[in-house]
Amino acid sequence: MKEHHDEKEFAVIGLGRFGGSICKALSEEGVEVMAMDIDEDKVNEYAKIASHAVIGDSTDESVLKNLGLRNFDHVIVAIGENIQASILTTLILKELGVHTITVKAQNDYHEKVLSKIGADHIVHPERDMAKRIAHNIVSNNVLDYLELSEEHSLVEIVANSRLAGNTLLDLDIRAKYGINIVAIKRGKEVIVSPLATEVIHQEDILIVIGSVTDISRFEKRVLHTK
Ligand code: ATP
Repeated sequence: MKEHHDEKEFAVIGLGRFGGSICKALSEEGVEVMAMDIDEDKVNEYAKIASHAVIGDSTDESVLKNLGLRNFDHVIVAIGENIQASILTTLILKELGVHTITVKAQNDYHEKVLSKIGADHIVHPERDMAKRIAHNIVSNNVLDYLELSEEHSLVEIVANSRLAGNTLLDLDIRAKYGINIVAIKRGKEVIVSPLATEVIHQEDILIVIGSVTDISRFEKRVLHTK
C-alpha cells in the first residue's frame, strides 16, 4: 500500500462500467475502497477487487448510515441511468456529511440538480472522452487534451518542423498567443518549467496551458501551416 494516500477511505456506489473502472483503478492505486451496488452479481464481481463489497440500496438512508458512510473521505456515485436514485443518494451522502462527493451525471438537467444539492465534483465521462477524442481527430498534432474549465485547457502538442530549432524566447508564445509551455517531454526526459533559452526539438511534446481560444489560435497559426 502506498503511504502518501494517508489512509483515505473511498467508496464507489454503482458498479456499472464507469463505477467498476473507478473501483479497479482506486484499488490499483493501493487505497481502501468500498464497493456497493444493489445488484448481487455486480457485488460478487467486485468482491475480490475492492477492500469490501456490499449489496445495498443507496437510496435507503438507514443503509448508508449503518455502513458508516459518513466516515468516508470521498464517495463516488456512479449510478447513471436511474437519475432519481443518483440524486437521492447524493442528497443522503451530503446530509450525512461526507467530505467529498463525486457524481457521474447523465445529462445537463442531472448536472444542474447535482450542483444545486452540493455535489463537489460532477463528471460526464462519455461526453469528456468524446471531446478529447474529437479534438485528437481534428488536430493531428494534439496528443491529449484536458479541459480545466469551460475556458481553459491543458494540451499536449507535438512540435513540428516549424517549431523545431527555435527557443521559447524566439517563438514568444506567451506574448503572441497568451499561452504557456509548462513542460516539454523529450523521449524519456521531462523538462518542467523550461527556460526561455530552451531549444525545441522536432517531435518534442509540448505541454501547453491556456485559454481554449488562445490555444486553438496557436494550433491554427503554427501547426497547421505546412
Ligand atoms: P455505465 O457506467 O455502465 O455506463 P450507467 O451509467 O448505465 O453505467 P447504470 O447501469 O444505470 O449506470 O448503474 C450503474 C450501477 O448502479 C448498476 O450496476 C446498478 O445496479 C447500480 N445501482 C442502480 N441503482 C442503485 C441503488 N439505488 N443503489 C445501489 N446501486 C444502484
